[in-house]
Amino acid sequence: SLEIKDMTKQFQQQMILKDVSFTLNKGEILSIVGPSGSGKTTLLRILAGLETPTSGTVSISGKDVTRKKANKRNLSLVFQQPLLFPHMTVKENIRYGAKLAKKNDEDKIISLLDAIGLSSYADHYPSEISGGQQQRVALARAMATEPEVILFDEPFSSLDPQLRQGLRLWVRDFLAERAITSIFVTHDTEEAMLMGDRVALFNEGVFQQIDEPKVLHQSPANPFVANFLGGHL
Ligand code: ATP
Repeated sequence: SLEIKDMTKQFQQQMILKDVSFTLNKGEILSIVGPSGSGKTTLLRILAGLETPTSGTVSISGKDVTRKKANKRNLSLVFQQPLLFPHMTVKENIRYGAKLAKKNDEDKIISLLDAIGLSSYADHYPSEISGGQQQRVALARAMATEPEVILFDEPFSSLDPQLRQGLRLWVRDFLAERAITSIFVTHDTEEAMLMGDRVALFNEGVFQQIDEPKVLHQSPANPFVANFLGGHL
């Protein structure tokens, strides 16, 4: 599980996160959507340990990790821009993740390569494949670590629509089978509804509503939610 309590973040005079609290059960996927600049990336960076909150706590499986370094939190991040090791091939990049999980078996790496559709690129270097292909490798590497929590920040935004469709389902199944607790930040409301067990509407540093997709549609909590979803129905 993942628990955020009374989280605030202030940059200079500006309050970017205003008292954010929520709990995700083990294996639950929460999508977060909201306007640009509403604080979604800041929230993810705090959860990941890349940014210190002004106040509040982050707990993973009941343990307070607020003061733990990023690499001691047993979580994985997938950013919008793939960050691959340039001196490692596609396969070596994925194997690096698998080694962190001490699950470095060849079958697993081969099935991940297959799942992202890059079996024939196993021995290519990142500079020899497209941006979209690099992003799929970054996704496979994060998945290979099988952490307790995965945080996704717009992971599909550089991919073409057809590829996106297939990968959504693969990522969802992968997370569900392993009960990996996840947060999925996206600009795409339709994608948020598809990926999330629950969807959070974020605006101006607070959650306007967190509910299952069908509840959001049926009973928006306020005009902001209704308008935001209305534009996408
Ligand atoms: P987008 O959807 O465009 O990625 P977002 O919802 O992820 O936006 P954030 O990137 O979290 O929004 O930014 C929220 C606000 O915090 C913005 O106004 C941004 O300028 C501000 N901000 C983010 N990081 C810093 C920083 N290091 N110093 C000062 N202000 C910052």
